[in-house]
Amino acid sequence: MFVIEINPISKAAIDTRIHPFRDQSGNVTGVIIVVRDITRIKKLEQVRTEFIENASHELRTPVTIIRGFVETLLGGASEDEKALKRFLELLDKESKRLISLTEDILTLEKAEKKIHEKEEREIDVTKELSDCAGAFASIISDKGLELVCDFTDNPVRVKMNREDFRQVFSNLIDNAIKFTDAGKVSLKVDADPEFATITVSDTGEGMAPRDLDRIFERFYRVDKSRSREKGGTGLGLSIVRHLVEKQGGRISVESKPGAGSSFKTTLPL
Ligand code: ADP
Repeated sequence: MFVIEINPISKAAIDTRIHPFRDQSGNVTGVIIVVRDITRIKKLEQVRTEFIENASHELRTPVTIIRGFVETLLGGASEDEKALKRFLELLDKESKRLISLTEDILTLEKAEKKIHEKEEREIDVTKELSDCAGAFASIISDKGLELVCDFTDNPVRVKMNREDFRQVFSNLIDNAIKFTDAGKVSLKVDADPEFATITVSDTGEGMAPRDLDRIFERFYRVDKSRSREKGGTGLGLSIVRHLVEKQGGRISVESKPGAGSSFKTTLPL
């Protein structure tokens, strides 16, 4: 007799197969029992199903809105010049959202593949970060925000694909600007013998502690409609986390409602 103990609290998924052994006359003389813990496989399947459900829902929303506008225009609204302009602007906005969503879904799918298929080079962190921030200069000044850079004088180099590096920090800087109405967006680079630490902070709306555990989940947004309004897809931070972890790095967040947020990324040198 043998005993398999399964902890009911762990909700383990166990795959059991029994193969009988028979002698020449067909009598069962013994059995092989194969017991496999497939909890991880099941969990991955569930995550994948949930992702497909969420992605379909997120994609359907702009498509439904676009259909609605098109029907209204075809129904006669296009004859009113003012209405036509408004509907075309809304169609423009929703179709752009659709493009962002499909792009983010594809980027996430690529980021999740653990293999390093892209070319990695030594990159100069402060230079790349300044270039990333430079792309947001006009949005920062339009919003009346201040960009503060606090970079170490010593050169800091990490080995990473340049496009991935830009994807990570453009997402973090974009969020910092999106969720800050007044004050500063700050970039800080530090290094010790092993790691480069890059911090993107803001003086924006911040987040409650209960949201901090969840913001790296796919499609999680503190305020769905506000994020949509700002052109968000809810996938940016999951992409960021995947790219950073693929590099052997870590990302953490500290935030206080009304006081701002700070995203700290460490990358191995
Ligand atoms: P989104 O496309 O909505 O920006 P993200 O995955 O980048 O999606 O972020 C998820 C959510 O985390 C955002 O919708 C927002 O609620 C919150 N968030 C991210 N960055 C910040 C920030 N700097 N300040 C406040 N909230 C933030």
